[in-house]
Amino acid sequence: MSNLESGPETRCGGQVALADPAVSDWLDGRDVPLGPRAMVRRLLPHQFRRMVGAWCFLDQFGPEDLNGSRGMSIGPHPHSGLQTVTWLLAGAVLHRDSLGSEQRIEPYQLNLMTSGAGISHSEESPAQRPPTMHGLQLWVALPEASRAVAPRFDHHAQLPRLAFGAGTRGTGPAQGTLLMGEIAGAVSPALTYSPLIGLDLELAAGASLTLPLQPDFEYAVLATKGEARVQGRALRPDGLLYLGRGRGSISLTAEPASRLFLLGGEPFEEELVMWWNFVARSHEEIVQARQDWADESPRFGEVRGFPGPRLGAPALPTTTLKPRDRHGRTMG
Ligand code: MN
Repeated sequence: MSNLESGPETRCGGQVALADPAVSDWLDGRDVPLGPRAMVRRLLPHQFRRMVGAWCFLDQFGPEDLNGSRGMSIGPHPHSGLQTVTWLLAGAVLHRDSLGSEQRIEPYQLNLMTSGAGISHSEESPAQRPPTMHGLQLWVALPEASRAVAPRFDHHAQLPRLAFGAGTRGTGPAQGTLLMGEIAGAVSPALTYSPLIGLDLELAAGASLTLPLQPDFEYAVLATKGEARVQGRALRPDGLLYLGRGRGSISLTAEPASRLFLLGGEPFEEELVMWWNFVARSHEEIVQARQDWADESPRFGEVRGFPGPRLGAPALPTTTLKPRDRHGRTMG
């Protein structure tokens, strides 16, 4: 995914204010254009919550009927200082990148792209595909010690599956697919650079379960389908419930069959500046990254095979960068 927003840079992270203890803050998502017709629901960064652990970006796209449409078509664009995590709930996407990767992704698979200092990629709906597309696009900020690692792309077709609650393994009232991190004895093969978790949960109608959490992680949950309650609080489909940290577990209940996504991690203590598709540490780094992309520098390489032009960066903001802590603005 490419972030088309061209507004002021977002500064986040930092030790000014670490995550709250256990809280329950509802964060409304907002619709953001991703192209001529496509809209996504942006959940992070949010004005009241910039990050959850190292997770610094979260869009939900669809569910959308692609019949009669070209579908997803995001031309080559750069990334820096992050990992992109692509998770599909329905449909198929074809990924190409400057390392020469060409990878189709389908539901229950993970595309994980580690940018290091620079990589570029494109995403498109393949010609042969199911009619509906629905998914999540997330970014994970790379910590200082790892943000210049060699760029790489990993496709995980097999991820750990877990059963929670009563029932035999795989047939309980809730099934988890672990994208990243570890929980309940399962460990994802995906490469991480800071302690974090990403977990998809499918709850049968009426399911009720207790999910183990790490008290030193902060967490947030969203519903991608159905209606569920977290600690008794209803999850609406259009936002994110931030849970803070200091919890050893949470209770989840589903009314109709529901699907949830849990993200969490150790509070990320570095200050970040995010702009367009870059995660950096200063305004100057953003300016340099933008220039390197405009100059077609080898830093970001070249994507081959995408049927269309590369994306140009928006104009830099003229406003002075305002430091913000990792929380975002105070609620209420
Ligand atoms: Mn992207």
